[in-house]
Amino acid sequence: MKDFSREIWAYALRNAIDFGKVDAGKILPKLFQHGLDKKDIRKIMPEIQKIAGEVNKLSAGEREKEFEKYGEFVKEKEEKEEGLPELEEAVEGKVVTRLAPEPSKYNHIGHALVFLIQYLYAKKYKGKCILRFDDTNPEKSALEYYRSMKEDLAWLGIKWDMEILASNDMARMYKLAEKLINQGDAFVCSCAQEDMKELRDKMKACKCRKNSKEDNLGEWKLMLSGKFKEGDRILRLKGDMKSKNGVMRDPVIFRISYSSHFIQKDKYCVWPMYDFESSVKDSLDGITHVIRSKEFELRAELHANIVKLLGMKPPIIREIGRYQITGAETQGRVIREMIEKGEIKGWDDPRLVTVKALRRRGFVPEMFQELAQTVGLSKSSGRIDPTVLAATNRKIIDQRAARYSFIADPVELEITGTPAMKEIEVLLHPDKDEKRKVKIGHEFFISKEDFENLKGKEIRLLHLYNIKLGSKVVKGKVKCEFTSSDVKDIPKINWVSFGVKARVFMPDGKWVSGVVDEGVWDLKPGAIIQFERFGFVRFDGIHNHLYEFWFAHK
Ligand SMILES: [Zn+2]
Repeated sequence: MKDFSREIWAYALRNAIDFGKVDAGKILPKLFQHGLDKKDIRKIMPEIQKIAGEVNKLSAGEREKEFEKYGEFVKEKEEKEEGLPELEEAVEGKVVTRLAPEPSKYNHIGHALVFLIQYLYAKKYKGKCILRFDDTNPEKSALEYYRSMKEDLAWLGIKWDMEILASNDMARMYKLAEKLINQGDAFVCSCAQEDMKELRDKMKACKCRKNSKEDNLGEWKLMLSGKFKEGDRILRLKGDMKSKNGVMRDPVIFRISYSSHFIQKDKYCVWPMYDFESSVKDSLDGITHVIRSKEFELRAELHANIVKLLGMKPPIIREIGRYQITGAETQGRVIREMIEKGEIKGWDDPRLVTVKALRRRGFVPEMFQELAQTVGLSKSSGRIDPTVLAATNRKIIDQRAARYSFIADPVELEITGTPAMKEIEVLLHPDKDEKRKVKIGHEFFISKEDFENLKGKEIRLLHLYNIKLGSKVVKGKVKCEFTSSDVKDIPKINWVSFGVKARVFMPDGKWVSGVVDEGVWDLKPGAIIQFERFGFVRFDGIHNHLYEFWFAHK
């Protein structure tokens, strides 16, 4: 048998670096790629165990150092694998992940990235990806959000294998609640909310904890039959009132609500809380792997406890950084207030980083996909700078965005001595052959900023000819002279001759007005183009006789 010790060291170290300790079972399958024969499995196992033991004794720093030594022996094989790191216990064809939005808000980029990562993992392991709506909060869930979520996900390029509404599985969830009551692990509580809050703060149990199983079951049935008012009774899990983690102190798992649900209408008046619904549904739906952001850290103990009490199989949970865009507001509650106060226009306001807002500005699905691949499972704080979004998007759209001239805050030029020219041809994109015609008349516009910076100097009107710029505006016009010189190393300025009125909605919520060359007549709403020397924009449509564009980035 060949000596595999270097490969074993390399994989054991990699495994320890990624997951904290070596899982010896992970190493064996890798060795087949290096030519291990099946008949030698018995001979190789003790060696794997021995090396795994040694690696487990090393500190994190030592592991990194050792990996530098051994990494090269497995490098080639590692590079063949896809960008996302491996998940524990992931078996090809058996992995089931889920996208579990609550239909009570609009997705922001952080949600989108977590959804994409779960989807990419299902694809990586040729498994399934389930779209499950955690819609058991009847007051907050709404059709509007449900539809918008699906639209966002489809736009992002996610193809889910199945759609599930948690609210369609109430019968099974009620059964599990009864099981907990019968086991003595849940009880019906009739305490006032304020009293209970005080008791939980003092780490003291309420009197209802002592109720008999029979009483609890009877009260539970009365809850289901609609005998009580909202808040009069709730079902609590018998947690641990002494726990340091407040979430564990006899948490509510079911409550009464008579609000009409957007799908179930008035069919139910007892609803599971998120912690219960989400954790039991993962097991009921056969989810094998959950990737979620760190904000669930405190609730993880409760989720694991619920599933354990019910004797169900929990999924493997990977926690990742909570993706935030530096400087952007992502809290649904705050955004709702801003909209109500009229501070922003809506959920797609360019100051927000909702999927809708970014989409309307000209960010493309490929940007989200690429970002999901690169941020992958990083446990870092998850802060993403807006410049990273712009850079990733620019790389993609720069190759396809046609070029046009937009003149912000225009100043009119009157040029004397110009050669007779009716039109010129310019390239739609510098790397492509396709051209378009640009008409030339007697009027020319350049931006006020260009004029202020260059007045009195010789400039080149981009793609056209050189002129000497006048130095002051008289009756709204600047007198300029054509110069026959062909000097090229002078400032090249965008201009518009035949233009249409346009304005651009900037990411700070302000509009920039100007004229755009009439080539935009051919554009369809949604087109992503570049205004040369201004930035990338998305054509939003013609509103109030104005061509309106949304600014993406420089
Ligand atoms: Zn109580």
